[in-house]
Amino acid sequence: MRTPVLSVRDAVVEYPGGVKALAGVSLEIRNGELLAIVGPSGSGKSTLLNIMGTLDRPTTGTVVIAGEDVTTLPDRQLSALRGRWLGFVFQQFHLSEGLTATENVATGLLYAGAPRKQRRPLALAALERVGLAHRAGHRPHELSGGERQRVAIARALVHEPTLVLADEPTGALDTANGRAVLELLTQLNEEGTTIALITHDRDIAARLPRRVEIQDGRIVIDTAAERHPCRDRTGVVGVAP
Ligand code: ADP
Repeated sequence: MRTPVLSVRDAVVEYPGGVKALAGVSLEIRNGELLAIVGPSGSGKSTLLNIMGTLDRPTTGTVVIAGEDVTTLPDRQLSALRGRWLGFVFQQFHLSEGLTATENVATGLLYAGAPRKQRRPLALAALERVGLAHRAGHRPHELSGGERQRVAIARALVHEPTLVLADEPTGALDTANGRAVLELLTQLNEEGTTIALITHDRDIAARLPRRVEIQDGRIVIDTAAERHPCRDRTGVVGVAP
């Protein structure tokens, strides 16, 4: 079986005032997966994304990334590990206006320990992977929304992270560009990148190999669990089909 790259175990996130944004979530992501975490507004998706991305800690429970329990790591170590292991794609791209596409992508290498001389060639190679080598010298305002998101995806990939977390990556795009971005993520996954995509859009979720549905801070459907019924909820391992 493929190695887990990220495990969330029994995560509870409680906000002041007693709101339980996550009410006991367990989720394992394996190397090479492409999955959707889908749910309506207020279901707990952002909260789950924040603890998976080590931007927040659960109130109780653990998050293990690449074998390391990140819930107990001090903040400085955490940001270093985040820079090495994780790549982020946001709905609104978050590119720097003053930088070219190549320079924006190269910022993804700042915390990855890549020698300065290698940053530009690595950034160009990442732009090539997303089909944007011909836009390398353009600044964000000279690019379409779809192209900007591809630059942001190249930035998320350039340091070869263990896991890419994409938060509503098609949310700010029209249908055609949204479809193209989804196709790109699928292609990158086929080339080996592990990707978790957060969305409220059930149609997008239905197109991905695994769908994890979240409601009121709990996972209510996980199609991977349905495909591997040999392990039941109590952790008892039965005979694999
Ligand atoms: P989603 O991303 O699916 O829209 P969220 O994770 O943002 O859901 O929110 C889950 C629940 O937690 C909601 O009820 C929301 O109102 C609540 N919540 C989120 N952030 C905070 C916060 N900082 N303080 C209090 N409640 C919060």
